[in-house]
Amino acid sequence: MTIRFDNSYARELEGMYIPWHGAQAPAPKLLLLNTALAQELGLDPDALAGPAGLAMLSASAMPEGAEPLAMAYAGHQFGGFSAQLGDGRAILVGEVIDRQGQRRDIHLKGSGKTPFSRGGDGKAALGPVLREYILGEAMQALGIPTTRALAAVATGESVLREGPLPGAVLARVASSHLRVGTFQFFLARGETARLRRLTDYAIHRHFPELEGQGDRDLAFLRAVIARQMALVAQWMAVGFVHGVMNTDNCAISGETIDYGPCAFLDAYDPRAVFSSIDRQGRYAYDRQPVLAQWNLARLAEAMLPLINPENPEAALPMVQEVIEEAPEIYALEWRARMGAKLGLTQCSAADEGLITGFLSHLAAQEADFTRSFAALADAAQGKEAALRDCLKDAAGLSEWLVAWRERLEAEDGGAGAAAGRMAAVNPVYIPRNHLVEAALSAAHSGDLAPTRQLLEVLSQPFTRRPGLEAFEQSAPAGFGPYTTFCGT
Ligand code: AMP
Ligand code: MG
Repeated sequence: MTIRFDNSYARELEGMYIPWHGAQAPAPKLLLLNTALAQELGLDPDALAGPAGLAMLSASAMPEGAEPLAMAYAGHQFGGFSAQLGDGRAILVGEVIDRQGQRRDIHLKGSGKTPFSRGGDGKAALGPVLREYILGEAMQALGIPTTRALAAVATGESVLREGPLPGAVLARVASSHLRVGTFQFFLARGETARLRRLTDYAIHRHFPELEGQGDRDLAFLRAVIARQMALVAQWMAVGFVHGVMNTDNCAISGETIDYGPCAFLDAYDPRAVFSSIDRQGRYAYDRQPVLAQWNLARLAEAMLPLINPENPEAALPMVQEVIEEAPEIYALEWRARMGAKLGLTQCSAADEGLITGFLSHLAAQEADFTRSFAALADAAQGKEAALRDCLKDAAGLSEWLVAWRERLEAEDGGAGAAAGRMAAVNPVYIPRNHLVEAALSAAHSGDLAPTRQLLEVLSQPFTRRPGLEAFEQSAPAGFGPYTTFCGT
């Protein structure tokens, strides 16, 4: 198996990682391989499925050209700072340039202990690995920036969690694994020279258009904020709750990273929290924009000694000004995304009431978020049955519907054209919690067919297909309130 690696992180950021190898998996078995992604990366899917490929994907043995390493990073977890986190159960295998010319990391999660493991075993269990695979691929199909799954491999060993669980490794692809926490690591240690190198590296890798600018650090911060605000607006528009928005899980690239206790809303509830460890609701659905901004303020702090090495504090007003732009950037992104869900091409501040009006109805009626928006596309064409089905009190929405239809008349092509646009942005299929749980439960019994089918359904989220009615439905009544676990 030949992979053309080009390992810029290993080459350019010495001192910011520890060269490291994965643990030998006793009996690796390929569970899922993302053939399309492999091809996008210029990798041969057959070779990946062969012995050398499996050795790499299970972290057991690296191909030529790989320079596996564990990255150092810090992070605020639930608001408390840990000066040293780092890849405690993961390694970066190396980087490849994909068919589009984009640099992509190949990374393994569940690859064994590293010097950053602290008390952990460095391993991952099958359930969380498949969950990340499913959720990440769903996000990709929804058009939301995300890390992706290249493969899931069973290791053939048990990992001990609440009991023994089958172990697995997730091969993950990202446009990089630079996190807000990576910058915090060097800020906390006062290693300004490394912080400088890291920032220049990040700019070169993700925002090359900023290179050579005099105020590139501020511009970098502004660019990361723009991507993160756009990302969170996209999460909100599909009802996604990340669940653990710690600064180490906040990617500089603007991709969704580290799917742990995340979940999609069933009934619309702005206060929704799924994660068992988020007892205060810090990362509740409606807190995500504010928390993203909080995370970016931590990145902003790391820019201070770069902007003004002699007197970092003096740079504070400049940096603050940039951070304070975040809410407005978010508001615009959110309005555009939510407006599009209502069929609006140009959504102004005056339209915000229409958006919040619909959401209030959904909240009050505990209506399914995804189904209600999908049904609204039909309602634009006068077919209201599906929408009525979502609501406890359909009559309560009639005034809103009148105002909405009136507003659609101001759009080119009126309500008819809006219906088509709406169908393209309001998904029919999302990774519903009960479907994900059912797939994982079958996988634990050795049956991957439901996982494969779910992945297939989620790969075309906007196209309703006959025979897939069950995948549109809300959780059955007996499913109860949903709780997610980190599963680490
Ligand atoms: P997470 O909350 O999954 O983003 O992980 C936070 C930190 O804990 C990271 O430094 C991880 O590498 C580390 N970690 C999580 N699970 C394990 C594990 N099983 N063994 C070692 N380190 C872990
Ligand atoms: Mg993480």
